[in-house]
Amino acid sequence: MTLYADLHRHLGGALHPRIIYKFLQKNDHPILNYFPDYDGFLNWFTRPCRTLEEFVKIHSLVEELQSLEHLPYFCLRLCRGAYTFENLQYMEIRYNPYFRTDKSLTVAKRIGQMTDIVEVITANLRPAEFPITVKQILCLDRRLPSHINEAILKVAKDNLGPVVGIDLAGPEIDPEKWEIWVKLMQKARSNGLKTTAHLGETAIDNVHSQYLTCLDRIGHGIHIPLVRPEMLKELAKRQITLEVCPTSYRQTGVLKDFHQLKTVFERCRKAGVAIAICTDNPGRNPAPCTLPGEYERLIDHDVIDFADLKSVQTEGFRSAFGYAGPQRQ
Ligand SMILES: [Zn+2]
Repeated sequence: MTLYADLHRHLGGALHPRIIYKFLQKNDHPILNYFPDYDGFLNWFTRPCRTLEEFVKIHSLVEELQSLEHLPYFCLRLCRGAYTFENLQYMEIRYNPYFRTDKSLTVAKRIGQMTDIVEVITANLRPAEFPITVKQILCLDRRLPSHINEAILKVAKDNLGPVVGIDLAGPEIDPEKWEIWVKLMQKARSNGLKTTAHLGETAIDNVHSQYLTCLDRIGHGIHIPLVRPEMLKELAKRQITLEVCPTSYRQTGVLKDFHQLKTVFERCRKAGVAIAICTDNPGRNPAPCTLPGEYERLIDHDVIDFADLKSVQTEGFRSAFGYAGPQRQ
């Protein structure tokens, strides 16, 4: 059995919609007033959005469900599904701990609760029957004030080991604030954390060259090869991997066609920039979206060749932040 590694998957978008729906039923959640049957919920939850902002709104709903009390329920299902249905050997799951804290608390108390969130996730990402290794990446968010992002970084540092890295997430707003994020990423690195950031997903505006000095990988970054291919040389020099999540671009309205990714792959290959193919938010995609399914879609659309599969699979492990063991076949 071939085993795989997924490096870009959000806790809020990783779960099968059926699992979320069953959870809503179990908890008699008021949102069911809008969705008395599963099909209605499924259509709403997996519909393609016009913009990333619209996409992120539904994501926020799931983040609120994933409270301290309910995280064990979601973590177990996430791990067993990834191992059983996708043959994942290794996964990096990313999430914002602040968005999972109790909204009724003060900001100071919510910041304090982030430690509990990370600890409960750590304790529940090791299901005995499913031998998958899951490491965590904590997400900073462009919409949050500095002191909360600083606190997220501190929690990451305090949990180094189960937490392997820091990501910058949220809608791609305020490109002029790059300096804030570059400083935080530098700080993360000096504390032994690896770094990635959602950049160049919807446009090129956010891709300031200084980010290249402090990132180990870039979440998406597809607009670099599409719009600024001359930057690829620097990415190659610094060995920055792009995390490319094919179906995601259709769901967030970024690309119309998978075929557009052919340019991304060709230019990166030519420049020597590594690509790790990832799933981003597989639970939000209309067809059951798995990592091997993403590989298959790329072959179907002539973006990669069947013969590339081995190197694609190897790249997932090579670019991982916390993978130590040998790759099993
Ligand atoms: Zn993402």
